[in-house]
Amino acid sequence: MATSSAAAPVAPSGQPAGHEALVRDLEQALGAASVLHAPEDLIAFEYDATIERALPEVAVFPESTEQVAAAVRIAEAHQRPVVPRGSGSGLSGGAVPVAGGVLVVMTKMDRIIEVDPVNRVAVVQPGVVNLGLQEALAPHGLLFAPDPSSQRVCTIGGNVANNSGGPHTLAHGSTVNHILGLEVVLPGGRVTRLGGRLVDVPGIDLRGLLVGSEGTLGIVTEITVRLVRVAPAVRTLVAVFDSVEAASEAVSAIIRRGLIPVALEMLDREIIRLVEPRIHAGYPLDAGAVLLIEVEGLAESVEADAATVEDACVLAGATEVRVARTAAERERLWEARKVGIGAIGAASPAFYLLDGVVPRTRLPAVMRDVLETSARFGFRVANIFHAGDGNLHPNLMFDPEEPGATARVLECAEAIMRLCVDAGGAVTGEHGIGFEKRSYMEWIFSPADLAAMHAVRVAFGGAERFNPCKVLPGGHGCSPGHGAEALAVMRRGADSV
Ligand SMILES: Cc1cc2nc3c(=O)[nH]c(=O)nc-3n(C[C@H](O)[C@H](O)[C@H](O)COP(=O)(O)OP(=O)(O)OC[C@H]3O[C@@H](n4cnc5c(N)ncnc54)[C@H](O)[C@@H]3O)c2cc1C
Repeated sequence: MATSSAAAPVAPSGQPAGHEALVRDLEQALGAASVLHAPEDLIAFEYDATIERALPEVAVFPESTEQVAAAVRIAEAHQRPVVPRGSGSGLSGGAVPVAGGVLVVMTKMDRIIEVDPVNRVAVVQPGVVNLGLQEALAPHGLLFAPDPSSQRVCTIGGNVANNSGGPHTLAHGSTVNHILGLEVVLPGGRVTRLGGRLVDVPGIDLRGLLVGSEGTLGIVTEITVRLVRVAPAVRTLVAVFDSVEAASEAVSAIIRRGLIPVALEMLDREIIRLVEPRIHAGYPLDAGAVLLIEVEGLAESVEADAATVEDACVLAGATEVRVARTAAERERLWEARKVGIGAIGAASPAFYLLDGVVPRTRLPAVMRDVLETSARFGFRVANIFHAGDGNLHPNLMFDPEEPGATARVLECAEAIMRLCVDAGGAVTGEHGIGFEKRSYMEWIFSPADLAAMHAVRVAFGGAERFNPCKVLPGGHGCSPGHGAEALAVMRRGADSV
């Protein structure tokens, strides 16, 4: 377990002082079956989808808002950190309990409470899995627009905390645009409701503040979401290019036509060669990159929009543009997109998934530099990303057993993040800052900006113990982890040799 100034002193047993009393109080409030404390049981909860690792002292699995509030109160009475967790699919270490403490796992609160098709609203518990909600909405001809590629596992609570994006947020906007109301357990265990069922709310928009706060301001226990209608008609196109750069040029060319496709995704050659043999979606193995583009609307308009997209792609250098003719063909194209990251995992002992964002028009130059930088550091890189949003997700493949490889991958990742910032972008497009990137915050925010964010945490009452060591730089005693934090520690070590 990591140690922290936020955590209790360690007893001779190896557990923090007061461990038994903490477990006893949690078991009394939630029931023994909802509390895990044996290290062997906690191993499954020491990580998310990054390479960060840290064991919680205790994991609890509340089934109601009252139980969440009780767990928060008990953790605070015992001076333990509180870390909310959904499915643990996060890609910035946000749910990793780097300072130990009580991990509050929300997956048992997984009820869809209400679907109101007329007002286009649904009320859900935070542990509902994104795809589960979409499946429940389908018979009503409705959807919850944020659709992260991890939607088979990630929770709506995690989507809210990270303000997640997805292929279809290009046209519809990210999660914050689809959240109407929240019930939240604040630090100290107070329960509050923010927003409601209406799009606009009077007063200070605390609902907007909570979305994207990465579990640092409270634990979301109920969510009212805005629903959108499934479009009557959709066309899915695949445009094939010789290079990533050419495909990147086409992204701006399409949008310059005055058309916002509902999705505009890029898969490069590495990804195509990993997924095509498994999914047989029809992506050409010799392509430098493809764009997977979707337009939707009324039947009469989608044909014209698809023709506009095709024209823009051909003019930008596409060697082929294909329209999916059947629902099954469309599904396979998307299936290949959604299994892309998993396929990298199967092909390499480890990979480091980066998340940056740049103005769309800078994508061609930045992608060229990303490829050059990865090659300079000696890494195979696979790119699969929401290109329309200017997001980029280079995946650096490496073998952590190779001496020096982890340090080199971190150096390379930092260089790529710098490229994004220098191009007028930022160090995350959708995965959040979490633990991994908090030291990069100083690249894009002034000390005054960061102080304002810290003041918000203080005002909510959770600055010290609510998901400590996340989002904002600083925080004494947090374990260094593997991200930018670890790189800083390695450099300090190298400097002192
Ligand atoms: C293969 C793959 C593809 C992905 N694709 C995308 C993508 O397309 N777009 C995208 O944006 N992300 C993507 N992600 C990242 C990730 O899935 C999202 O960030 C997702 O929203 C996290 O949900 P989760 O339930 O797994 O949350 P976790 O990882 O468990 O937690 C994430 C953060 O949310 C906080 N949190 C969780 N639940 C609550 C709650 N109830 N209240 C308060 N805070 C809470 C945690 O403390 C943590 O800071 C992908 C990940 C993988 C592995």
